[in-house]
Amino acid sequence: MANLRFEVVAEAFKKKPQETVTPAERPSEYFGKYVFNRAKMYKYLPCDVYEQLIDVMDNGTRLDRSIADAVAKGMKQWAVENGVTHYTHWFQPLTEGTAEKHDAFIEHDGKGGMIEEFSGKLLMQQEPDASSFPSGGIRNTFEARGYSAWDPTSPVFIIDDTLCIPTIFISYTGEALDYKAPLLRALHAVGTAAQAVCQYFYPDVRKVSCNLGWEQEYFLVDEGLYSARPDLLLTGRTLMGHDSAKNQQMDDHYFGTIPERVQAFMKDLEVQALELGIPCKTRHNEVAPNQFELAPIYEECNLAVDHNMLLMSLMKKVARRHSFRVLLHEKPYAGINGSGKHNNWSLTTDTGILLHAPGKTPEDNLRFLVFIVETLMAVYRHNGLLKASIMSATNAHRLGANEAPPAIISSFLGHQLSQLLEHIENADKETLLNVAGKQGLKLDIPEIPELLIDNTDRNRTSPFAFTGNRFEFRAVGSEANCASAMIVLNSAVAEALNSFKQRVDALIAGGEDKMSAIIDVIRDDVKTCKPIIFEGNGYCDEWKREAESRGLDCETSCPVVFDRYLDEESIGMFEKLNVMNRKELMARNEVKWETYTKRIQIEARVMGDLTMNHIIPVCTHYQSQLAKNVQSMYDIFPANKADELTSRNKKIIEEIAQRTQIIETGVEELVEARKVANRIESCREKAIAYHDTVAPKLEFIRRHIDKLELIVSDELWTLPKYRELLFIK
Ligand code: ADP
Ligand code: MG
Repeated sequence: MANLRFEVVAEAFKKKPQETVTPAERPSEYFGKYVFNRAKMYKYLPCDVYEQLIDVMDNGTRLDRSIADAVAKGMKQWAVENGVTHYTHWFQPLTEGTAEKHDAFIEHDGKGGMIEEFSGKLLMQQEPDASSFPSGGIRNTFEARGYSAWDPTSPVFIIDDTLCIPTIFISYTGEALDYKAPLLRALHAVGTAAQAVCQYFYPDVRKVSCNLGWEQEYFLVDEGLYSARPDLLLTGRTLMGHDSAKNQQMDDHYFGTIPERVQAFMKDLEVQALELGIPCKTRHNEVAPNQFELAPIYEECNLAVDHNMLLMSLMKKVARRHSFRVLLHEKPYAGINGSGKHNNWSLTTDTGILLHAPGKTPEDNLRFLVFIVETLMAVYRHNGLLKASIMSATNAHRLGANEAPPAIISSFLGHQLSQLLEHIENADKETLLNVAGKQGLKLDIPEIPELLIDNTDRNRTSPFAFTGNRFEFRAVGSEANCASAMIVLNSAVAEALNSFKQRVDALIAGGEDKMSAIIDVIRDDVKTCKPIIFEGNGYCDEWKREAESRGLDCETSCPVVFDRYLDEESIGMFEKLNVMNRKELMARNEVKWETYTKRIQIEARVMGDLTMNHIIPVCTHYQSQLAKNVQSMYDIFPANKADELTSRNKKIIEEIAQRTQIIETGVEELVEARKVANRIESCREKAIAYHDTVAPKLEFIRRHIDKLELIVSDELWTLPKYRELLFIK
């Protein structure tokens, strides 16, 4: 019997690194080659059109329809010069990927021929027949009229022969059906709120924007091995597989030498990413075997989100060229580290980063503190919602498991900053603020030395850590659209800043001095948000108890965590900031619950199939071999001798019989649990049933399969094992 596993393993061992092309130019020269960036706008657009478009991009003014035709014309010219024949509105539906539908530029010219056409109207708006995108019922199929509209703050780009136009995707009645529309609204809210607070310190600040620097973790696996694992192929993770004897215990992978075949992949990927304007900066091996990371330089949040989506699809494409598959699932393998996507977040003015620590003046330090404390207030008030924003069927394997941020959101500040907050809380006000004659206000806020802050002992267990001039949200899943987390975080910070300003203004209106009012409010908030600050080990069990007593959200069930979106405080916040309304939130939650159910459903089906077609046949085959052997021993030896000599094989025969029996019963129960769950009408209740009754059975069945993997002859085992998936590169 041919064993596919041996074939693909042998093939994988033979693979050589792919040839890569080193561009003749330097990265700084080909960076953004396929992006219609400012330089190209300047070259291809009339002067006045260029200026109007820059105004739209920089100041969020409305794009005048009258210039759209001129913009489209310039874009088309540039695109055609680059061999482009098609265009597409590129958007981010509520599935985790991106969507596109290509149309050719060609139109009849009225003389029996064809011409290349691309109008302002086509650039600005389209109505993709997108009735099969998840919409939570907002857009029923009979009125499948979602439309996509250009987001001029994210530049168009070329992939192969297609001009891609970043767009928002909304229903005919104006509800957001994607991630980008609410993200843009949340960014607007936080920018406005932060700018207003900035005015206390720097009256000439004109604009505050949000930065995002993501770090993308991923696994690579040889394509042949991947194709021999139906579970990886269909669910993105291994549903079974015994630990490899060696995995990550030697700590020899992190920052290790990058294997040649991988290096070739990375090089190709980076060249293409740079050409698309993604500022790739860092690459390295991650903790688990065959796990890697790529991080660009941070960018404005909306653009960074687009670039992350683009990079993820680029990775998949480039990986194939190198006979790899990229695994973006948060937990493709049990027992070793999973993959996350750290989201480094900060706010910045047109004059500098707001979370940057030491200022030259006490006012600067106070500004710094205000933004730190109000971010903490946001995380404290909405810690459950923030968790919901990063929760998914796949990331649930990572959160709360023993090697990743726990399913509790807390913030790590480091010794320096924690001490400073304590000082603010405990010092009496006269010490903090004394009015000294002609010199005016003097703030007694100790300076924070830059070096010390930068070297803060980084607590790797914290899901939301302050790391010098930014917060690092580490619980985001590797497969997720960063927008989900960024919508919630920016909304929550906007709300906190608005509330801060309201209270300060009320005190000022009552006659209090500005700085004194700010200090009063900040001192209150430092006290309030204290429960969110946690400097200890987030992985230990005591923290779970402690967090519970602090009133932090400790729920771990994914479908129940989604409820946080529909808490009145959450709906109130989103509505007040104009980010999402109740109807949108309810619809989006339906999508979340349905997606959760579907993913577990698929896993359960694949588990059933694999068990019946691979595992049990292989095990019984081996069992018969052993049985034959036992039989023949009795033919050769006297019974008492044969008894002795066959005891080991008999034991194995028995263990196989018992475990396959348990597995079969398990699969029957799994099917039954699915049937029961499928009858449930409410998508929330159905998702909960899948979580409570279906998912645990997968784990139960797996345990027995993994034990069988250890005792069944290696020669017969058909599925590539962990040691092969993880160590062949
Ligand atoms: P780490 O030690 O966490 O791996 P890196 O130096 O690799 O840190 O940076 C991680 C990411 O954080 C990069 O994308 C970097 O550009 C980004 N980053 C740095 N400063 C800021 C900031 N002020 N705001 C947002 N992102 C930032
Ligand atoms: Mg980091």
